[in-house]
Amino acid sequence: SVNQPDHDLDPPFHTQCQEPVTEGPREKAALVMLVRNSELEGAVKTVRSIEKHFNQWFHYPIVFLNDEAWDDVFIETMNATASGEVRFEVLTQEEWSFPSWMDVGKARQGIDQQGKDGILYAGMESYHHMCRFYSGKFYTFDALKEYKWYWRIEPDVDFYCALTYDPFVEMARRSKVYGYTIALPEVPRTCPSLFREMADWKERHRPEIRGSEELWKAMVSPSWVPWPFRRMSLFRHRDRGGDGWNMCHYWSNFEIASLDFFRSKEYQSLFEHLDSTGGFYRERWGDAPVHSLALAMLLDSPQRVHHFADIGYRHDSFFQCPANAFGSKQLPHSDVLSENIPWAPEYASGIGCRCECDGAKTLNVPAYCLNRLKQPNSDRRLSTWAWVRSR
Ligand code: GDP
Ligand code: MN
Repeated sequence: SVNQPDHDLDPPFHTQCQEPVTEGPREKAALVMLVRNSELEGAVKTVRSIEKHFNQWFHYPIVFLNDEAWDDVFIETMNATASGEVRFEVLTQEEWSFPSWMDVGKARQGIDQQGKDGILYAGMESYHHMCRFYSGKFYTFDALKEYKWYWRIEPDVDFYCALTYDPFVEMARRSKVYGYTIALPEVPRTCPSLFREMADWKERHRPEIRGSEELWKAMVSPSWVPWPFRRMSLFRHRDRGGDGWNMCHYWSNFEIASLDFFRSKEYQSLFEHLDSTGGFYRERWGDAPVHSLALAMLLDSPQRVHHFADIGYRHDSFFQCPANAFGSKQLPHSDVLSENIPWAPEYASGIGCRCECDGAKTLNVPAYCLNRLKQPNSDRRLSTWAWVRSR
């Protein structure tokens, strides 16, 4: 297609506006949101946004997950907001708690200490449960058994562009496993021993795992100068050979991915191993770096990972705003590139459809990690230091 540079081995699935393609077979898939009753307002905002930009045409079910019983008002409101089936599930102790062998009193003391040390979110017990859940038990949760694919959503996020094709069908068609929008560096103090633990597991299981090494090398390298946490990372986030993790990971509050990959024997045994070290509580390991490093070691090709460069998305203050596609009808902005931007070429090609974000704003996404993680799917050397702008 016109907007795709030929060096891109992971182009967007579609680059022009089109009437939503709602015919044809569907995948066994669901939108999934873990959420508290108290977050109803933010949850409604998200559901309205994803209905407007996608689900009003596709009507995928939305599965809501909670560690507590649902409020009636939450259920009623969502029934009135979503265009497809809505389901309300409650996690069991198995999915939402400390591992059974752990000394809970001690673990809580450790969590308090992490809070006093000012480690991001680490003083909240529930946040540790959340990260542990999304790292492993999510995938084997009974209520999700019937699905092969999930699109993870969260309260209070925005979607900006029309998604006119079925992302699950396209992922399946192209043998993709994992799709993301934003990539960032992890906060090093949340996970001092995570990388070593995962690298050791990788080394121990070398004969069984079929990782292509290309993604691994995008995250891990000998010459890595850890930015922007240079001093601290000199001593940590290294494997036994001295190679360092650059802290880059796919931001997991948005994920369109294969449940089967994460249900696999390899991934689940990796998760069980990580869980057995207690690191989800002793430290505050995020599910995002766990997913990312696991993908990097287990996938047989970097092309199993897809960057959804055409999806406009915001979570907190980070967002991706694709410029609108050329040649399409009914654009609210006629975004044409006025300056030549030599990096992140997909932003310069105008691949979004009816995006409502302001493509003129400097995006709040450090391009380092995005470009680094895209590198294995590109023949071209992508730039390092630029902050991504869409035009
Ligand atoms: P952040 O994105 O890292 O800032 O973390 P969030 O606070 O947004 O939490 C991530 C997701 O887990 C969101 O969908 C939250 O609604 C959900 N979540 C976090 N903690 C809890 C909890 O204690 N109970 C429930 N039910 N959901 C939670
Ligand atoms: Mn969030």
